[in-house]
Amino acid sequence: MSVSGDLPDLYIGGAWVHSSDGGKRELINPADGSVVAVVDEATSDDATRAVAAARATFDEGSWPATPVSERAALLTRIADLLVRDKELLARIETDDTGKTLVESRIDIDDVVSVFRYYAELIAVSSDRLVDVGDPTVISRVVREPIGVCVLIAPWNYPLLQISWKIAPALAAGCTMVAKPSEVTPLSTIAFVRLAEEAGVPPGVLNLVQGSGAVLGAALTDTDDVDLISFTGGLATGRRIAEIAARRVTKAAVELGGKNPHIVFADAEWESSVDQVLTGVFLHSGQVCSSGTRLIVEESIADDFVAELAKRAAKIKFGNGLDPASETGPLVSEQHREKVEAYVALGISEGAKLVVGGERPTDPTFATGSFYPPTIFDRCDRTMRIVTEETFGPILTVERFTTEEEAIMLGNDTEYGLAAGVRTSDAARGERVVRALRHGTVWLNDFGYYTAAAEWGGFKKSGNGRELGPAGLAEYQEMKHIWHNT
Ligand code: NAD
Repeated sequence: MSVSGDLPDLYIGGAWVHSSDGGKRELINPADGSVVAVVDEATSDDATRAVAAARATFDEGSWPATPVSERAALLTRIADLLVRDKELLARIETDDTGKTLVESRIDIDDVVSVFRYYAELIAVSSDRLVDVGDPTVISRVVREPIGVCVLIAPWNYPLLQISWKIAPALAAGCTMVAKPSEVTPLSTIAFVRLAEEAGVPPGVLNLVQGSGAVLGAALTDTDDVDLISFTGGLATGRRIAEIAARRVTKAAVELGGKNPHIVFADAEWESSVDQVLTGVFLHSGQVCSSGTRLIVEESIADDFVAELAKRAAKIKFGNGLDPASETGPLVSEQHREKVEAYVALGISEGAKLVVGGERPTDPTFATGSFYPPTIFDRCDRTMRIVTEETFGPILTVERFTTEEEAIMLGNDTEYGLAAGVRTSDAARGERVVRALRHGTVWLNDFGYYTAAAEWGGFKKSGNGRELGPAGLAEYQEMKHIWHNT
């Protein structure tokens, strides 16, 4: 399997093709600035042809009518091939994103579990019989594929995020156009080759990659699409939701987060220190559910922050291929500049910089987009580093004295994706967890999820759900069949 060289990288109607205008994009390894691959950059016409191929394949009817058992078997074959190619896919992900190989391997394992989960779920009928009080009537609610789906993904978990869409869309019997981020398309290209090998019929899964600004209208501003499933930033999601609203197209948007991690004074110390650090510095903070706002009880705050700072300074960042690296670089030079601008903003807003805050000077890091774990103490709700998603290795610290204040601060964000609560008081834990307006809340843990439980956001973190039964329902229509016997 290859994803570079002269092979075409766009997959439309079951054929691998080059970009129609010959356009190419160089992909840069953020760990050392080298060129990882040169891939085809789709044009707007290519995207239109991909949507048309998905539309024609759906309307022709054989894929949506394929027995559920066959679709489940296809998902299982894909999962098996993912296992076979795990090392290759993990390496591609690390080269493209900079994340450590350990993280990439976990991502691929999670992708496998998503395909296995939906293979099992789709095999269980969700049709419902309804008693209408008339024995001559059989009333049934059945689920059918929603139709043509456009699946747009971000760069931080490239294959993982797009698999949360492709797996349920295939399971449901939809056809689709996948559009990975132009920053990190390689694992999705490799995946589509693997899906072809598994036997996905031509036209069911189409692939284009390139700039969202160029391809966006062709993919979203069209009545040929029945569902847009988007994961990315709030500004892009809002634009897509506006287009979808005008066309009355269903749009499920999964957006950013500004996630609080609340630590009460009675929390278990060691695991709290560990998980506050990994919760924010994993993948250099480029995680939608990153616990970027520490909200800590005043009585332990000084000691807790001092311990965090001491340990954060020792976190080993470096090339993701080096087993000693605990975290990799930022995804690109452009993104590092954005993170640096937030650090400068934090300083100008009066937050107290306690660790990090400057790009490394060691020549080992000269060609990569590295940035150290950075902590700001004495932050408050008026600061933009506390309210805006920085998407980098930046932890802000706010302090509280009462449970009510902790909850108020935890909910004081336009986002509502994820939150953490740490306390040894079970009753308080339950009260706070239930009071937080976030889609996932971890109690005395942080960062975990499973394919079987829904993932998504309250408030501006989005309007849909991925994973779990609801993640499949996004790709289905419900039809009520009233049969007078
Ligand atoms: P982004 O919004 O810049 O891009 C996301 C995708 O949208 C890319 O594929 C991009 O090419 C495409 N795009 C851009 N403009 C478009 C347009 N006009 N029409 C159609 N598509 C367009 O986001 P990003 O920087 O790639 O990703 C980071 C963001 O993703 C963060 O905000 C992060 O929190 C969020 N995210 C959310 C989740 C979640 O589960 N809620 C998961 C991962 C990432």
